[in-house]
This record gives sequence, C-alpha cells and structure tokens, in this order.
Amino acid sequence: MELSFESGSAIIADLNLIEKMATRQEEENQNFISFLKSRNPLELDQWVSEISKDVAAQIDCKKCGNCCRSLTVAPDYQDISRLANALQQETHEFKRKYMRRDHVGDMVFKQRPCPMLKNGLCSVYEDRPKTCRTYPHLEKNNVISRLGNVLSNLKVCPIAFNTFELLKLRFA
Ligand code: SF4
Ligand code: SF4
Repeated sequence: MELSFESGSAIIADLNLIEKMATRQEEENQNFISFLKSRNPLELDQWVSEISKDVAAQIDCKKCGNCCRSLTVAPDYQDISRLANALQQETHEFKRKYMRRDHVGDMVFKQRPCPMLKNGLCSVYEDRPKTCRTYPHLEKNNVISRLGNVLSNLKVCPIAFNTFELLKLRFA
C-alpha cells in the first residue's frame, strides 16, 4: 500500500516491500549513514525530526504493529512496576511471568511478539514502556549517535524506512 506524501513523494507502508527494499539497499544505506556522520548534529536532528513527524502522521501504527511483533523490548524498572500495577500483579510475579535477562543483563520481555500484544493491539497502551512511546526514536536529540540503530530499524519500521528514504532525497 502506498500513501501520498504532501511533498509529492510516496510513503510505503507495505512491510514485505519495505523489508525487501531495505535489504536490497543495505550497502547504499550504509554509505549514506557514513555521509550523515559528517553532517552538523543539530541540523541533522532538525531534519530527521521534521521528516519523521510528517511520515508518522501518515502511517497508522495500529494497522502495523511490526515493532511489537519483531523487536525484543527492554522496559526499565519504572516501566515494569507500572505494567505490573496495570495488570494488578506483584512486580516479582510480573517479572517471573514475562521477563528474562538478556546477554548484557538487561530485563527484556521473554517472548516475541511482545506478550502485551493482544489481537494486534497493545493491551497496556496507556502504561506501555517508555521505549515503546518513542520508537523508532527519530524525534530524540543526537540522532547522529544512533545512526546504527536507525539502520537496523529500516527493515522493521515504515516510519524509519520512509524517513530515511526522504532524507536521502533531500541530499540527492
Ligand atoms: S508493550 Fe505494547 S507497545 Fe510495547 S511492544 Fe508490547 S505491545 Fe507493543
Ligand atoms: S512504530 Fe513503526 S513498526 Fe511500530 S507500529 Fe509504528 S510504523 Fe509500525
């Protein structure tokens, strides 16, 4: 499915197509990341934030949910406490049921898709972890320090993919 973009560029929301395109463009995207690293960090934040806001306004996350299905989410201590509370469980009970330690010792959801995903929607939306609220993290400052993460999100997230494509066009 393609949605029109105000500037005239097309927004691609088809997840299969996005994965194929991002895979095919891996080398080109890696080179573009290297180029972006030479840009002014503040200007880059402004461009990425501006473009990603426009893109996000045209993508319905409720119809996508790919991050909830594909990524391993790492809630912090406050997130875990809030989630346990929302589910009327003791924190230790919530952790035992849903969490594990990853290879660096962080607490992560032990299942993928996320166990909070029910019928394609987040069942704890109001209490979801902070990282879920800001994913794909393109409106946060200092994107230049997170370009590796941006690259790895291109195959997963239509917002990240389209923002990156439009950023490439800006420099074409
Ligand atoms: S907590 Fe909700 S928003 Fe976050 S990954 Fe799970 S289902 Fe998605
Ligand atoms: S943040 Fe990205 S991957 Fe997650 S639901 Fe929205 S468009 Fe899909």
